[in-house]
Amino acid sequence: MLPREVGYARPSTLGEALELLASNDGARPLAGGQTLVNVMKARVASPDALVDLNGLDELRGVELGGDGSLEIGSMTTYSAIMASAEARARPILGEVCAQIADVQVRNRGTIGGNICANDPTNHLPPLMVAVGASMTIAGPDGARDVPAEDFFLGVYMTAVGPGEVLTKIKIPPGRRDGFASVTIGRDGTCIVAAAVSLDGEPRVAVGCVDAVPHRATGVEAKLNGDTSLEAARAAADGLGATLDPPGDIHATAEYRQHVAEVVVARAIVQAGSRGGR
Ligand SMILES: Cc1cc2nc3c(=O)[nH]c(=O)nc-3n(C[C@H](O)[C@H](O)[C@H](O)COP(=O)(O)OP(=O)(O)OC[C@H]3O[C@@H](n4cnc5c(N)ncnc54)[C@H](O)[C@@H]3O)c2cc1C
Repeated sequence: MLPREVGYARPSTLGEALELLASNDGARPLAGGQTLVNVMKARVASPDALVDLNGLDELRGVELGGDGSLEIGSMTTYSAIMASAEARARPILGEVCAQIADVQVRNRGTIGGNICANDPTNHLPPLMVAVGASMTIAGPDGARDVPAEDFFLGVYMTAVGPGEVLTKIKIPPGRRDGFASVTIGRDGTCIVAAAVSLDGEPRVAVGCVDAVPHRATGVEAKLNGDTSLEAARAAADGLGATLDPPGDIHATAEYRQHVAEVVVARAIVQAGSRGGR
C-alpha cells in the first residue's frame, strides 16, 4: 500500500525544526524512516507532514567525555555507532547495534528513532534502561533531561511530546555490560531480550515482555558479585513467574517467561566476563 499524500520539510537547524513542528499539530519528525515510513505505508500512521531531521548535523555524532561518559546525537545511525571509536568506550552499544536487522536498516535507522518508536521488540529500549541512559528532549520551552526509566511510557509512546525533538542520549561511563536475546531468525526481531549492567549497582532490564522495558529488581537484588553461570541462573530463577508477557504467533506467554530467565542469565555472565574501566 502507498502512504497518503504528506507534506515534507527539511529544516537545517533544530530551531527551525521545532518551529515547523509547533506550527502543525499533524507534523511528525522523520529520522531514518525505517519504522515511520513502513507504518505510513500500512496507513497505521498518517501524519499531515514530515519534518525531516536528516539535515540537522547538530543531532549527529558521538562525543566521549573525559570521564568515559558518552553523548550521542539522536540522529546517529546504528552503522555510525558501530564505526565510532568514541562509542567503543561502552562496547555494548556497537555490539547491540550490529545485531539490529540488516545493513540497509543499520545504515538508515538511528538511535533516536529506535527509542522514540519504543516498539517493545526493539533492541535499544532495554539497553538504555540497563546502562542508565538519560535523554535530552528539546521543545518550544527549552530542553529537559529524562532518565531512561521515565522515558518509555507505553507501546510507541515516550516522554517526547508533540512538538518536541529528542536531541541526544547521555550514557554514563561503564564497560561491564551484557545483552542477550532470542530472535526470530538470525538478527531478527526479538522474542525476548535482556540487558545487564554491572557497573555500580546492578541494573537488569528485560524487553518484549511488557509495553516498556521491565526492570528486574528482584534479579538485581540477588546479584552479589558472583557472575558464574550457576550464580546467574540462580539470580534469574523465578523471574518468569513475576512477568505477564504477551503471547503471539511467535511465542506463547509461558515460553517468553522461560526465555526471560535464560537471556537474563546469559547477559549477566557476559557482563561479568568484562573488566571494569
Ligand atoms: C526490516 C526491518 C527490521 C527491523 N528489525 C529491527 C530489530 O530487530 N530491532 C530493532 O531494534 N529495530 C528493528 N527495526 C526498526 C529499526 O531499527 C528502526 O530504524 C527504528 O525502530 C526507528 O528508527 P528510525 O531512525 O528509522 O526512525 P523513524 O522510523 O524515522 O521514526 C520512528 C518514530 O520516532 C519518531 N522520531 C524519530 N526520531 C525522533 C527524534 N529525534 N525526536 C522525536 N521523535 C523522533 C518519529 O516521528 C517516529 O514516530 C527494523 C526495521 C526494519 C525495516
